[in-house]
Amino acid sequence: MNSNDIYEVDLTDVYHYKFSYGGQSPYFQGLAHGKLVASRCQGCGHTWLPMRKVCSRCYGDTANLELPNRGEILTGLSLPAAPKHLAGLGMPVGSALVLVEGSSTCIKTFVVSSTGNFSKGTRVEARFGPEIRTIADFWFVTV
Ligand SMILES: [Zn+2]
Repeated sequence: MNSNDIYEVDLTDVYHYKFSYGGQSPYFQGLAHGKLVASRCQGCGHTWLPMRKVCSRCYGDTANLELPNRGEILTGLSLPAAPKHLAGLGMPVGSALVLVEGSSTCIKTFVVSSTGNFSKGTRVEARFGPEIRTIADFWFVTV
């Protein structure tokens, strides 16, 4: 059999299904209500954002808590083009590691800045999209 004997066609498959965030559901429910839900380890006190059911440092149980929607950029860079869901804002968009107040961990996220400043220490505040489906449906703006 050679390649001319292989019968091939182009097909497109579309799957519709419900994706479950399982134990991280409180985090996404928080985003849907404009809140950042973290968890604090009852053993070592480490605060995880996004929340985790079990501490990855000591395997202790955690308790959820809401953090303020504010933080600062640890490091960031300007993107050459805004992702589709943020392009309509008409402002420079960066990718950054943001440390939210009260969290022990940083979060990789999009940052929108009218000045294009994504430098370390820049203060940011969370914004939430109209529908939370993925972690990309919230971002920060510089303040
Ligand atoms: Zn711990």
